[in-house]
Amino acid sequence: MKLNGTLSSTTETSEWESNIDTMGDEHIGSPKIETPMREGAFDLSDDQKMEQIENHFRSIMDIMGLDLTDDSLMGTPKRVAKMYVKEIFQGLNPENKPKMALFNNSYHYDQMLVEKNISFYSNCEHHFVPIIGKAHVAYISSGKVIGLSKINRLVNFFAKRPQVQERLTVQIAEELKKLLETDDVAVVIDAVHLCVSSRGVQDTSSSTVTSSYGGRFKEDDVRSEFFAHIQAPSPS
Ligand SMILES: [Zn+2]
Repeated sequence: MKLNGTLSSTTETSEWESNIDTMGDEHIGSPKIETPMREGAFDLSDDQKMEQIENHFRSIMDIMGLDLTDDSLMGTPKRVAKMYVKEIFQGLNPENKPKMALFNNSYHYDQMLVEKNISFYSNCEHHFVPIIGKAHVAYISSGKVIGLSKINRLVNFFAKRPQVQERLTVQIAEELKKLLETDDVAVVIDAVHLCVSSRGVQDTSSSTVTSSYGGRFKEDDVRSEFFAHIQAPSPS
């Protein structure tokens, strides 16, 4: 398979195309932790991006044969462009990363803190359809603590990108390790992928679980305690 360079024959092209399909459907992603971004990703302003996306999306709708003079459809390209840049993909822009104030652990709380059932919406980078899930995050303080809502915000910042679930899990874990100056961080994500349920194999009952265990969370008893917390029913 040649992913770079010129494809010289139709045989190679069809092999390449079928590999592309397989990679997407099997959700085999790039092994890098960082979201793959090209050079100059932020040279355009948000307004310039929205204007260009609007034009391109209008072309896509037009190619599909939709009547863009119809009252219901005419505003869609603009709405989609705004939604991409300002909402569902705003986490691509580092400027939108939540400000994370740290506090001293003045209570000397030395047990794990678990923030569970954090809802998020992301989008599969192979099909651009939703990934809907819950994240469970835990850490053991090394002297610094973080505001609880900041954990939710951080999960949602990384979720608002075209994603693969494995990368989302690792991005959240690595960011928290850096911020909290400890490896004692765990992240578990359980999510449904609409590219699996609404198309492809059309399985509506499966979900995907990914995890990252750092530092003490690699120890069986610490990890078991974390599992017990995330499996316990939440107060309603
Ligand atoms: Zn997908």
